[in-house]
Amino acid sequence: MAEKRDYYEVLGVAKNAAADEIKKAYRKVAIKYHPDKNPDDPTAEDKFKEAAEAYEVLSDEQKRARYDQFGHRGMGGASGGGPNMEDIFSQFGDIFGGGGGFEGFFGGRQGGGRRVRKGSNLRIKLKLDLEEVANGVEKKIKVKRYVACSTCTGTGAKNGTDLKDCGTCHGQGQVKRVVNTMLGQMVSSSTCPTCQGEGKIVSAKCDVCHGEGRELKEEIIPINIPAGVAEGMQLSMNGKGNYPERGGVAGDLLIQIEEEPHELLKRDGNNIMFDQYISFVDAALGANIEVPTIEGKVKIKVDPGTQPGKILRLRGKGIKDLNGYGRGDQLIHINVWTPKSVNSEERQILEKLRDSQNFAPNPGKNDKGFFEKVKEYFQ
Ligand SMILES: [Zn+2]
Ligand SMILES: [Zn+2]
Repeated sequence: MAEKRDYYEVLGVAKNAAADEIKKAYRKVAIKYHPDKNPDDPTAEDKFKEAAEAYEVLSDEQKRARYDQFGHRGMGGASGGGPNMEDIFSQFGDIFGGGGGFEGFFGGRQGGGRRVRKGSNLRIKLKLDLEEVANGVEKKIKVKRYVACSTCTGTGAKNGTDLKDCGTCHGQGQVKRVVNTMLGQMVSSSTCPTCQGEGKIVSAKCDVCHGEGRELKEEIIPINIPAGVAEGMQLSMNGKGNYPERGGVAGDLLIQIEEEPHELLKRDGNNIMFDQYISFVDAALGANIEVPTIEGKVKIKVDPGTQPGKILRLRGKGIKDLNGYGRGDQLIHINVWTPKSVNSEERQILEKLRDSQNFAPNPGKNDKGFFEKVKEYFQ
């Protein structure tokens, strides 16, 4: 598990920040990373949750004191894994003032009162080849997911109409109780026991989904995979997961990227690596050769006198950057192939070349040959 960030750092407040400052700071961060506002940023939800978790601790005097003293270890199981999304949204009641500004700001998200159920997320793995990674691709994927029952429009009620507001809570999903305390009267609210917080009562169930409000369907979902994704990355599509029972919002579809290795080309970040073998004749005399790239064959020139280990660069033949910063290159590593067996005619030619001064290695610039330098070194 990744190390948790300091809660004060997450909210961007000082260690001695007052409760008011913490509330303000959290409001800012929550608005910035709200998942509805950042549908294309899969990291937003994590940041959003991280902030909620930080606020949950720092807004509670006792928890904050424990955290100040012991750090994350002091939090034990109490905040293990952090709050779930539903808790976070119900927390907004206090932060954004009931059904006020916040819901208006994002639209549709439910604050206090009746809870909006969110369906479960669906996870799939998606294999991409190197060409698809390099350029991005639109994929159509087949997904079996729960969708709202079309007969009852997801309500679970017969014909979608046999639905009444709950008599106990009058559709609110919560019941309020006035309690007399030392400090005077206080209002506490709790989940309505009659409707379990749903606010509605179904007196006759839908015949098609038997009251579940949803049906399993196979769907073809087109998804645009941006160029430059990498193994293990997760993309998320809001609302393409499972629809919950009896109404609410669908969960998300989480797509985990898997890279299929290419037969010849290797990926290194946004660059593509290729090992090219050439004969020592081509290395000595130079040659025009063809190399594979993700866009097909490309001709390159090998200069006369090319040494093994030389790297040739094909600019812009790599992978498009995920964040739009241009495109990587293809790097061609030149290896010189030494024949493993020779026939007698070839042997004769090579024996002749062995005596040629020009064929002795001479990596330095001075006139002395490599073998002579080695010999001197051992003297
Ligand atoms: Zn139904
Ligand atoms: Zn009720």
